[in-house]
Order: sequence, then structure tokens, then C-alpha cells
Amino acid sequence: TKQTLENIKNVDGDINAFLTLDEDGALKQAKEIDDKGIDSDNLLSGLPIAVKDNIVTKGLKTTAASKILENFTPIYDATVSEKIKKLGTITVGKTNMDEFAMGGSTENSAFKITHNPWDTTKVPGGSSGGSAAAVAAGEVLAALGADTGGSIRQPASFTGVVGMKPTYGRVSRWGLIAFGSSLDQIGPITRNVADNATLLNAIAGHDDHDLTSSTKEVPDFTSSLNKGVKGLRIGIPSEFMAQGLDDDVKQTVLNTAETFKKLGATVDEVSLPHTKYGVAAYYIISSSEASSNLQRFDGIRYGRRAKDVKNLEDLYVKSRSEGFGDEVKRRIMLGTFSLSAGFYDAYFKKAAQVRTLMINDFNNVFKDFDLILAPTAPTPAYGIGEDVSDPMTMYMNDVLTLPVNLAGLPGMSVPAGFSKGLPVGVQLIGRPFDELTVYQAGNAFE
Ligand code: GLN
Repeated sequence: TKQTLENIKNVDGDINAFLTLDEDGALKQAKEIDDKGIDSDNLLSGLPIAVKDNIVTKGLKTTAASKILENFTPIYDATVSEKIKKLGTITVGKTNMDEFAMGGSTENSAFKITHNPWDTTKVPGGSSGGSAAAVAAGEVLAALGADTGGSIRQPASFTGVVGMKPTYGRVSRWGLIAFGSSLDQIGPITRNVADNATLLNAIAGHDDHDLTSSTKEVPDFTSSLNKGVKGLRIGIPSEFMAQGLDDDVKQTVLNTAETFKKLGATVDEVSLPHTKYGVAAYYIISSSEASSNLQRFDGIRYGRRAKDVKNLEDLYVKSRSEGFGDEVKRRIMLGTFSLSAGFYDAYFKKAAQVRTLMINDFNNVFKDFDLILAPTAPTPAYGIGEDVSDPMTMYMNDVLTLPVNLAGLPGMSVPAGFSKGLPVGVQLIGRPFDELTVYQAGNAFE
């Protein structure tokens, strides 16, 4: 833990992956483990890791990269924070992200810009860009992220690490600062597939605090790692390989398909015909849910409270106007509009119907296929400042990851190639609650 903290201090000046380092807390926890003796059957005992800053940590500042929570120190642990702590994992710090997880480059953080360790002029992706960059730069072996529309998988792809968004309900959301409650999932970001499965073992399972967490039995996710892919039926959705896809990214997917075939899997083209409506449906649903979830930041119960106000309404308006960044305000406006009486049928309801059609598309494919192989993001990491001022371009970039959230499926990005010196990941998508097959295939070609 000492070495990890030392290393972070040397490296993070160029990367900016961390918002908060918890030196004292981490060393204290490490000492307790030293005194007790490391549990040699438990791979996570004494392991320093990083946690995305929208996952609450007792006694450790949690801001979701927002000014409105700049001085917020939670009085309780998220279920995942508690679970990893019990296993002896040491949270060395909290990682940078897009404010309230709204974004895909970590440039929407209210506090700092995180740099891609492969090329510091590029973004690390987002919104879990701090977690991905911290792992990619070797600052920590593993980190927790969260994914509403791609926020674990896309930064994993941009930084050459492994990122898993588990099935909706696999991991408790208790203590995850809510963005889109029907889409959000916490998941592991690691250097390899085996580590990823090990960390998911630690955080998965039902939780009485989160009624959307599943009571399904949690398998040992490492048990399928060495099974190979012989006989697996893998589909590549043609809609995911269509226009707008970078040539190197496309080639990386095709190369991965060849590898799978050589290893004994069958690979065929499949169709997810409603993919083209995904971006619109996702941005309506996620913003609607966000507009409701973010009502709690009123300047009274949490965080920032505006000064010199005339009355209660003024307090709300000023606190929120000062505390939220532009992208968060944009989502609140979009979401409030979509849910409003006159527009609900035309927007929110339509989006919910599209979501059902997209779920049906996946169900149809999974009748004949065990797994879907796809690109994670349309391009490799792009330059800092390149896209951030153009929300539509940013939103379109999520087209390949957000269908997985709308359908609640497990999806993992695994490094599979390079484009001009930058890493490129591919995405493996499984049936609901079948993370085992995703890990099995990921480990086979990694
Ligand atoms: N980029 C997407 C968005 O801005 C996804 C973010 C996420 O998964 N948290 O909403």
C-alpha cells in the first residue's frame, strides 16, 4: 500500500486519475491487515484499489466530480464499498469522472481533466475515465467503475484494460449516486480478465438495500476462465459494423472473430434491427431518470448551499445553478421536458417502447447464439478538447454500448488490437446473468 501510494504520487501528476487520495485511511487499513496476517486464500486481502467517485465511501469524500458535492463526506458505505472492505481490499482513493457520470471523456468533471496514459493529449474515455486511467497507468491493479450507457466499457477500450458491466441486478446499487436507475451498474476495471472475474466475485449478489438487485445465485466467475470457446456460437451484429466505424476498430473485431474461429467457435453475422433508435431512446430515458434522481440536490440536504438568498426558491435555484455543470443542466432540462404532461406520450413513452423492441432484438439473437462480439466504441481515444463542445457527436459515440444497458445485459470490453499506437477494445455481450460465458470467451483470446 505504501508503494502504491508512492507510485501514484509519482505518476498521477501527468494522468490526473485521482480526485482524492486517502493516504492515512489506506495505511491504517493496511496496518490492520498486517497485524491480522494476510489471508492467503483470499486474493483480494491487502490489495490496494481505486473507486469511482460516485460510489459512496464512509468518511472519504465523494463528489461525483460535481461542485454541488464538493465537500460531501458520506456517513455510510455503499454496499460494494463495504463488501470489498470486508475482504481486506484497500481503497487508496477516489477517481475522476464526468460529473454525475454524464459524459464519455471525463472532460465534464468539475475539477480536473484526466489524461490517457498511452498518449496524454488524448482523453481516457468516460465517464469512468479516472478508474480506467489509474489501472492503465499501473497506479492500481484494479478499480471500480459504473456504467449507465458505456462508462466502464468505453474507457476500458480507450485505455487498453478490461472493463465489465455486469447484468442489471447483479451488483447492488445501494450507495451508487444514481444517474439512470434502470440502467446503472457498478463493475470492475482490471488489467486482465481473470482479475476482473475475481473482483466481480467480491461485489456481486443480492442486497436487501437494493430491491432491483437479483436473488439469483452468484457463481464463481473464475470457474469458466479456462474452458475455451470450442462450440460457442458467436454473432456479430451487422448494425454495429456499419458506417461511422473506424477502419482499425472494424479490423480489430474481424481479427478477433478469426481468432475465435481458430479456437473452435462459430462466428456469424446477426441483426439487431432497432439499433439505430438506441441513442435517442437512451438519452430520453437516462435524462428523465436523472432529472428525477438529481432533485435531491437542493442545497438543503446535500452539499453546496448558495449564500445571500432571498427566499427558499431562490436558495434552490441558486444552489443548483452554481453547483451543476452545463452537461448536467442539459440532461435535467431534457429529462424534465420528456416527462412533462404534454410531452410524455411523444417522448418518454415512445422511448420505453423502443427499449422493449431492442430487448426483443437481443432475445431473438440469443435463441441461436451464446455470445455477441462487437466493437466497444466507434473510434480509438480522441484528442482532449476535440468533441466535448459538441453534445450530439458525444451522444452518437455511445451507440455501441448503450443497447447493452437498455437491455440490462452483461457486456465486457477486452483489449484486442491497436490503432496508431492507441489500444482498441472489443465488446463481448452475453445473455442476462451469463457473465460466465463472457469471461470464458474473453479469457480465451486475451
Ligand atoms: N456517455 C454516456 C452518457 O453520457 C454514458 C455514461 C455512463 O455510462 N455513465 O450518458
